[in-house]
Amino acid sequence: MRFSPRLRKRFGRIVSRLGQRRAWNLLQIFGSPRGPQPKLRKKWRDGKIGELQDIVELAHLPHLRRWVRKNTQKAGVRFNRSRTAKDAKASEVRDRLIRRRGKQRHLVYVSFAGRRRCLKVGRSDHGFGRIVSQQDAYYFRDASRVDVYFPKFERKRMLPALECALTHLFIPYHFYQKPAARRYGRTCPVCHDMKLVRKIARELYPA
Ligand SMILES: [Zn+2]
Repeated sequence: MRFSPRLRKRFGRIVSRLGQRRAWNLLQIFGSPRGPQPKLRKKWRDGKIGELQDIVELAHLPHLRRWVRKNTQKAGVRFNRSRTAKDAKASEVRDRLIRRRGKQRHLVYVSFAGRRRCLKVGRSDHGFGRIVSQQDAYYFRDASRVDVYFPKFERKRMLPALECALTHLFIPYHFYQKPAARRYGRTCPVCHDMKLVRKIARELYPA
């Protein structure tokens, strides 16, 4: 995989700052003209690990976007505010897409409020029923648009991987339930790399 030089540089800068604080007690002996060196503290370290993970995620996005485009077909439903009641949006998604896609059981849906603000990424292996059953949830009630992604091949591991990919791409607001990456093992290369970064950094920079 190829990473942009700009991101690689940002990554390297954070790693050297971590290393500097890791060497705190050594640097302390000699002191510094600018006063005492800051110590490596857990909260600060974990913040930096989070920044490293964000960079890794960002670097994966173009590849992820291509993967989604290649392996899915997308259909969107846009709501007309004056015509569709808040509690009828989920069933409108079903009604408008079922004729084209009735038989397909596997799908991932993404709801948006406004042009880019993503409210929710969710998946279903039972067709549109799963969407309609959430009719009352704010992420459908407040949606201005719902995009549905249909995998070209219905494979068992494809659905969680697709859900995870779309979660990385859109960063939904409704995020307290992380995608199923953990349960399905290494289906998502981004989650894998983000976890690897955390594991290595915690070993290298104990705090
Ligand atoms: Zn992932």
